[in-house]
Amino acid sequence: MVRTRFAPSPTGYLHIGGARTALYAWAYARKHGGQFILRVEDTDQERSSADSVQAILDSMSWLGLDYDEGPVFQMDRLVRYREVAESLLIKGKAYWCYATPEELTAMREAQRGAGLKPRYDGRWRPENSVGKTPPEDIKPVLRFRNPDAGDVVWDDLVKGKISVSNEELDDFVLLRGDGTPTYNFGVVVDDHDMNLTHVIRGDDHVNNTPRQINVYQALNLEMPVFGHVPMILGDDGERLSKRHGAVSVTQYRDDGVLPDALLNYLARLGWSHGDEEVFTKNQFVAWFDLEHVSRSPAKFDGAKLNWINGEHIKLESNESLADIIRNSPATKEVKWEDGPDLPKLISLIKDRATSIHELVESVLVFFQKISISEEDRVKFLTPEIKPVIDSFTNSLRRVEWERASIGASIKNTLKEFGIKMPQLAMPLRLLLTGQTQTPAIDAVIELIGREQVLRRLEAGISSL
Ligand code: GLU
Repeated sequence: MVRTRFAPSPTGYLHIGGARTALYAWAYARKHGGQFILRVEDTDQERSSADSVQAILDSMSWLGLDYDEGPVFQMDRLVRYREVAESLLIKGKAYWCYATPEELTAMREAQRGAGLKPRYDGRWRPENSVGKTPPEDIKPVLRFRNPDAGDVVWDDLVKGKISVSNEELDDFVLLRGDGTPTYNFGVVVDDHDMNLTHVIRGDDHVNNTPRQINVYQALNLEMPVFGHVPMILGDDGERLSKRHGAVSVTQYRDDGVLPDALLNYLARLGWSHGDEEVFTKNQFVAWFDLEHVSRSPAKFDGAKLNWINGEHIKLESNESLADIIRNSPATKEVKWEDGPDLPKLISLIKDRATSIHELVESVLVFFQKISISEEDRVKFLTPEIKPVIDSFTNSLRRVEWERASIGASIKNTLKEFGIKMPQLAMPLRLLLTGQTQTPAIDAVIELIGREQVLRRLEAGISSL
């Protein structure tokens, strides 16, 4: 069975690059009827925080990326890493290194000075430390004994065949002085113990993969298949960072992006299915494959995200948008019973919105006290319009309350007074909503309801 995972380090919010990696790993499992696991890589105690864990969990749940197992925390598995580390030690594939940080810095400086690439020189390999007494005040780190020669080769599901010479790799640390595993060690133990078949992750880890493969081989373990997904860049071609604007998933949520729109946008960023631009999560799962993930980095495009968000707002049902709006912090004070039917209102305005915030703004117009700017009042609510509004108001008392009949009443009034649509529609918009831009006026009138409309127009006429 296909088993994939997402393995974030809780050192900050979940950024959209991480979310896209999670999405691809999730979709791959879902498409193949497999399982998806969430693992929190929290062994870097200094940089990890409970707040980040929470932000990651919240983001995953908001995006609807559900997992079958987890969250598994690496810090709960220290005993297991220790056990595997000892087996490597026994096999002669690992050794304790007592070099101090100062000593290692000096070593690297000397190497750089000599024009060499800085790398651990193997000074505590058993054959190099015969007769050396381990200093008592140093907590040693456990190093992996990397093979000296040969190449590490793998068929990457995204990038194709990759080969790295062992001469490029040094004896990296498996266990830190405090006993916690480093990323490259913990990841192998976990990916193996969790029976993962496919490791799908960002290509910032391509350099780590040969080290991990060497550990699999030293332990004689079967390996998962690897697929490295390219990074997301800002529009200036630099790696996406805060400088480019919002980068955290929760920021997009707070900015009024729908989760399915963000997923759709991220899915398309570096992957394609013909010309398809707008699709649901289920559709994406059905189409997704790693062959069509691009090998080169994708550029983030905020305007396209807004467009996709608008398309998803159109796709979303009026009822579910109504739920989102009722739960929005911006509408906490609204008394919903004082205004028109919310889903019906949404059906009139959602085509123009590219964010939930815009939708909320347009909705609020119908629930707020009407206030007309002085400028609009002078321009549109002239004494000449008074008899027109008066006559139209009267016609509304008897009309059948549905859009077409209301529209017919408007036309009759225009004919009666020999005026054009905007001359009546603008004053009506202002008196009924306080705004000069609204959906079609006959629809707005129907929506607000006879009682309210008559009340507002009568109050309006008396103020003219
Ligand atoms: N904790 C690593 C990261 O957040 C995970 C890398 C991996 O998926 O192996 O980059």
